[in-house]
Amino acid sequence: MRECTGKEITEEWLYHLGVPEGEIPELAEHSAVCVPTMMPYITAFFMPRTKGDRPDVIPDGCVNFAFLGQFAETPRDTVFTTEYSVRTAMEAVYGLLGVDRGVPEVWGSVYDIRELLSGSVKLMDGKSPLEIELPGPLNALKKPILRVVKGTVVEKVLRDYDVIKEGMI
Ligand SMILES: Cc1cc2nc3c(=O)[nH]c(=O)nc-3n(C[C@H](O)[C@H](O)[C@H](O)COP(=O)(O)OP(=O)(O)OC[C@H]3O[C@@H](n4cnc5c(N)ncnc54)[C@H](O)[C@@H]3O)c2cc1C
Repeated sequence: MRECTGKEITEEWLYHLGVPEGEIPELAEHSAVCVPTMMPYITAFFMPRTKGDRPDVIPDGCVNFAFLGQFAETPRDTVFTTEYSVRTAMEAVYGLLGVDRGVPEVWGSVYDIRELLSGSVKLMDGKSPLEIELPGPLNALKKPILRVVKGTVVEKVLRDYDVIKEGMI
């Protein structure tokens, strides 16, 4: 992306919007101005915080005022996604105006073992936790544990999410 021109970036998003391909180069060159900018670091989102550091979306007692976006507190969700900001906006509008609509539930990925396994492998660029050298005797536990799960549904789940790879058992 660092090497892309504004025209190339515009061509790409016009394509994804479904603009007829024949019209894209002309539109990208003459109908839009795109100045490529590197996005800032995202350190602020991830600063340690405790409950109360960020205001509730609708602070207690407010009837016409709300906080939106990454720096407002919404339960369960995780910052750094557009969903988080959109959820705060929904909570604000539905809450202040009494709109009878549910805010979409935060997907419970933290309780889904498949996502946790998949996330662990992806965090390590595809490397399985079983490929990590563990300190001392812990390494020796890997094979016996694999033998225990062999042929069970646990083996299938671990294989499906690349924790167990070919040749490990
Ligand atoms: C590098 C990077 C990568 C990301 N990747 C993803 C991703 O892949 N998927 C995903 O879901 N999310 C991603 N995010 C997060 C996502 O971009 C943000 O969560 C989302 O844009 C927040 O939206 P928002 O409307 O709450 O705030 P913003 O988009 O930050 O909008 C706030 C606006 O308020 C303006 N503003 C600030 N102060 C004032 C003021 N005093 N007066 C007037 N205007 C003001 C700002 O200029 C800005 O336009 C990424 C963020 C970064 C930085």
